[in-house]
Amino acid sequence: MSNITFHSGENIPLEMHKVRIIQKLNLPPVETRLTAMQEAGFNTFLLKNEDVFMDMLTDSGVNAMSDRQQAAMLMADDSYAGSATFTRLEEKLTDIFGTQYFLPTHQGRACENIIAQSYVTKDSIVPMNYHFTTTKAHITLNGGHVEEIFIDEALNLTSDCLFKGNLDTAKLTQLIVDKGADNIAFVRMEAGTNLIGGQPFSLQNMRDVKAICEQHQLLLVLDASLLADNLYFIKEREEACKDMTIREITRELADLSDIIYFSARKLGFARGGGICTNSKEAYERMREYITLYEGFLTYGGMSVREMEAITVGLEETMDEEMINQGPQFIEYMNTALQKRGIPVVTPAGGLGCHINASEFLPHLKQSEYPAGALAAAIYIASGARGMERGTMSEQRDENGVEPLAHMELVRLAMPRRVFTLSQVKYVIDRITWLYENRDMIGGLTFSEEPKVLRFFFGRLQATTNWPEQLATQFRNDFKDSL
Ligand SMILES: *Cc1c(COP(=O)(O)O)cnc(C)c1O
Repeated sequence: MSNITFHSGENIPLEMHKVRIIQKLNLPPVETRLTAMQEAGFNTFLLKNEDVFMDMLTDSGVNAMSDRQQAAMLMADDSYAGSATFTRLEEKLTDIFGTQYFLPTHQGRACENIIAQSYVTKDSIVPMNYHFTTTKAHITLNGGHVEEIFIDEALNLTSDCLFKGNLDTAKLTQLIVDKGADNIAFVRMEAGTNLIGGQPFSLQNMRDVKAICEQHQLLLVLDASLLADNLYFIKEREEACKDMTIREITRELADLSDIIYFSARKLGFARGGGICTNSKEAYERMREYITLYEGFLTYGGMSVREMEAITVGLEETMDEEMINQGPQFIEYMNTALQKRGIPVVTPAGGLGCHINASEFLPHLKQSEYPAGALAAAIYIASGARGMERGTMSEQRDENGVEPLAHMELVRLAMPRRVFTLSQVKYVIDRITWLYENRDMIGGLTFSEEPKVLRFFFGRLQATTNWPEQLATQFRNDFKDSL
């Protein structure tokens, strides 16, 4: 796909698959979208999917399956213990990661719960390239502290750094000196660093982190949930890896990790999760929690059909033409928005297109949740549902103080193999209109604020009647168009 050029000279990503099953979409008129947004408390998580045209909330559990995955699901072996389906998945993981032990879970955060309960103690520290919401919640719940040691470039929203997900190894060494290796539970590397815009780390960075961990006898844990995108970027962007296959890159990353965990809602185009390791000690330490929280050791809360789909999906992840559609569509969208002067995170990452809400709405303060307001406005203008990734996604500290996020982003996720290019062009068009009318967008304030993970089910209201005015402007400009 990446080396197919168009005679016209246009740079257009070409899908290397065809659509064989479709789902009809519904695009409600702007008046209905306004009401739906109000009823959802200006939280895109609370919208009903029937009111959503393009669901760009997340890449989790909504990636398209292949014909081969569907076929494998029919052959699933339904048994509580000793299922042949489990053996097939276990063998596939050994095949691609080279790991001997596999603990199945129902999804990624379940792995985090189990790893945190097994390794995090009161006041222990977990250094990482960047945190993920559920990761941090589990570490904190177990009394630990997250230390983010990203490179300076990581938070630079318009950068040409190809590996913004890299961990700053000098800072890691310093942290170990300052805090003592004994107080560090483990070091965590997150592939396709979710909250800073799906940005990858390099294979070389992983090697350097491993060397430090080895020197201080620290466990290195890889969160491989967004591994597919990271693999594509290593292959595309890391000069020294140009001639490695995706499979070889995967294997080296796995060899450098002591524990690998993943959400199969992302990795493997299905639903589920699991923890892989070569350490018998680690396996035995975590095993009892699987039976306690997830299910028996041969399914861990997953349906056998999903396990079959993951097995095939993992194999498809080793195929560059299967994992490049997401990153290439995102790059297309990023470039198109940039051309229109709309502030996006660069370079384009995996997972989705990230719009810089602070720059889109410079008239709003962080305490008015600019990213939340922009996500609501995008839905009203287009029926596309994105996700707030800013201060709303943060959690108040023990004193009730609201930490301001490093960045205010709206993420428009690109579920893998799902959308067509004309749909992406539609969203670009509506966001362009919104940008021209950005002065109309006002702030939000919480009306119901849960203590834990408030962004999931908190409710907000607009600080003025800006949503109504925006819908009216849309109707005037677009006449009788939806
Ligand atoms: C989604 C995600 C998780 C959590 O996985 P779930 O299956 O949603 O529980 C953990 N880490 C990263 C990097 C993720 O993107």
